[in-house]
Amino acid sequence: MIPIQGELTTISDLRLSTTNVVLHVRVSRMWEFREGGNEKGNIKHLDLVLIDLKGDAIYAEIPPDVIPILKPQLREKLIIFVGKFIVEKAKPGYKVVQNPYMLRLNRRTTIATSNANDLDFPKYTFSLTPIEILPQFVKNKERFLDVLGKITAVSNPAVVRNTAGDLMMRRIIKLQNLSGNTMDLSLSGMRALEFDGDAVLKIGQKNHIIAIFVGTLMKQYKDGTQFLSGTSACRWYINENDIPAIKAFQRSLPVDATPVEKIDLPNEDQTHVAFEERNLLQLNDIDPFTQKDERYQCTVTIIRIPEKQHWCYRACRVCSSKMISAPDGFQCTKDGGCPSKQFEWKYKIPFIVADGTYTLEFMMFERRATELIGKSAETLRKYNDPDIIPNEISQWIGHKFTFVVRILYKKSMRTEHPSFEVLLIKDRHGKQAVLPLLNTQSSAQEIGTSSDLLPTKDLPELMTISSKTPTDQELAMLTQSFGEFDDMDIDKSPRDWDDTPSAAKRRPYDDIEDDDNKQVFKKGKKSHMQPSTK
Ligand SMILES: [Zn+2]
Repeated sequence: MIPIQGELTTISDLRLSTTNVVLHVRVSRMWEFREGGNEKGNIKHLDLVLIDLKGDAIYAEIPPDVIPILKPQLREKLIIFVGKFIVEKAKPGYKVVQNPYMLRLNRRTTIATSNANDLDFPKYTFSLTPIEILPQFVKNKERFLDVLGKITAVSNPAVVRNTAGDLMMRRIIKLQNLSGNTMDLSLSGMRALEFDGDAVLKIGQKNHIIAIFVGTLMKQYKDGTQFLSGTSACRWYINENDIPAIKAFQRSLPVDATPVEKIDLPNEDQTHVAFEERNLLQLNDIDPFTQKDERYQCTVTIIRIPEKQHWCYRACRVCSSKMISAPDGFQCTKDGGCPSKQFEWKYKIPFIVADGTYTLEFMMFERRATELIGKSAETLRKYNDPDIIPNEISQWIGHKFTFVVRILYKKSMRTEHPSFEVLLIKDRHGKQAVLPLLNTQSSAQEIGTSSDLLPTKDLPELMTISSKTPTDQELAMLTQSFGEFDDMDIDKSPRDWDDTPSAAKRRPYDDIEDDDNKQVFKKGKKSHMQPSTK
């Protein structure tokens, strides 16, 4: 007898048409997915990997409003009956398990704890990718990777800054396969702290430490060094004797263990992180060809947002490239192709800023804009058209900030005046009573636009004729007919634009991994990050 309503079934029997069945499963993994991929972001969903008695696995997602109802009934390793869920097609990217379907739990979902014999129920699910072929999965967003290896070194957790200027907790682990190939694994956020490095170091002095890390992704630093990244979706199983793959690995190792080494990962000294201060006149001279990676600090006031420009764009849920309309819905414009048809709205706000020396465009994308505005583009889009600037954005006109910025080099190579991406909001100086005076030789971006600053009361009223916003169909036709036109670039995500190898990834349907690519370690310690095999 099962304790909840519905007919008992198995994971392999699930179909899109399945309704009112009950699964008997173990919660193998459970993690929160948060905006921005860090602990501070708003929770977007609670994720589960469920395994049934046959060993089949499926991913399940719990939306934010249902988390308070269901989470108290769930924890990892628990065996449960679950009913009244929705079977959906699996998401197009970032698969944790191979299954064409996923479950969406809801407020009607029923959960009952099972007293099934713990030993009968599989605990783990993984599909191992050999360390030696991991490099081919760099930038691959189709699925998470599960990796088996011997831990040869482990670092302390340390707070380090990525190139976006964010501080993140990190821990580095070196994994080695039986032929001696190694790969660095970087655990971030809570996972860096949850990993028991002290125990690994202590036990690893005399014993082999064999581990399986599940839910990781291959990433690449700016200098080309590749590494595995483990964030909230990552879990590990260390020296688990009930995992045959770990036992088989152990059999192939020599009896005597090589002691696990300690890596010294320095904490970023926050007081010493200084960016070169530039005013806008100086920033106007930045060369997009030679200075594309430099970051500058700049104190400016937002004076305007250009009319008739969109404040958000349709971002591919898999790769964040711009989506354009196609005969059968929307298609991703990623270079080299991307099969995704699903999009979500993301910010790309073109702020015009001034500081008394000059006026330039500072673009703000999803992460920074969400930090400033306090809600995601997706949320704001629900009540606002993309071509009308919502109050939540325009209210920042007149506010003064200290930003850390970097040139949007692809766009700036083709324009007279460079545009910059806001990487960090370093200081907020509040609303200014007086906007910065503009130099008469100010940027071309002032020409032909309304200025809030010049007195106009002596002039007769003009008949305004606004330009019209092209429809998506029109834009699609335009792209098809000309291949490309300059303004399209504006609609692309910064990561696609600023196509440095390290930057070429914005999160899939979410922003999980965003920071990993941008991680920069202090010079001189970099050797710790490089695979030791050639
Ligand atoms: Zn895409």
